[in-house]
Amino acid sequence: MEALQVFLVGHAAWAYVISRPLASVLRVKINPYLVMLLGMIPDVDILLQEYIKHRSVTHSVLLWGIAFIPLFIMYRRRSIPYFVAVIQHIIFGDVVVASTNILWPLRFQVGMGNSLLSPLNIAMEFIGMGMALLLILRYDKAMVAMNSRNILGMVVMLPLIGSMLYLFTTDGLLFLDHILGIGGISSKSIIRGVYDAIDILAIVLHISFAALLSASVLQGLRALLVRMH
Ligand SMILES: [Zn+2]
Repeated sequence: MEALQVFLVGHAAWAYVISRPLASVLRVKINPYLVMLLGMIPDVDILLQEYIKHRSVTHSVLLWGIAFIPLFIMYRRRSIPYFVAVIQHIIFGDVVVASTNILWPLRFQVGMGNSLLSPLNIAMEFIGMGMALLLILRYDKAMVAMNSRNILGMVVMLPLIGSMLYLFTTDGLLFLDHILGIGGISSKSIIRGVYDAIDILAIVLHISFAALLSASVLQGLRALLVRMH
């Protein structure tokens, strides 16, 4: 199960769930796609593992705070929901599953160290997703309206597809192997069967979120096409 490290959908959903009401309180507009992208961005280090350690530089509240200073100055409170979108990944999402050095390069390790497939984490994924969908209906129905702006859905879609491919090619293959019954039935495979059910839930989450974003992107493309004709 080690390979299943990328639950980007949870990070994107929670970034939106936290930043959306915050933007309302601050009376500022936000771009939901940018918020979701920023919620996932610290995990860009997964792609850069040859050069930097996962959950170090890009998971430093300290460095993000410094990086955002020009934005705080330029955009004032409009920048706050975006900053929070990044920070919630580190001090909320990752703290549940991992141990993270949140003040890198200083040493300040925090984390509950739950497994990514622990009931707590899975429950969080579900709550985050459910709340995100409700909030989209409440505040951002425009995400599924015919509007060329929705092509931006792509910036969230691409990392999601990437992580889905990752799931399907590693653990995905593992559970196909169980469905086909290769390896026979043993207590060990039954225990592993429980994990498979959770894998399926994880994949369902990814697919439903990806479906919503596909609708956004398609509507964006439609709007563009109409405009061109
Ligand atoms: Zn992370």
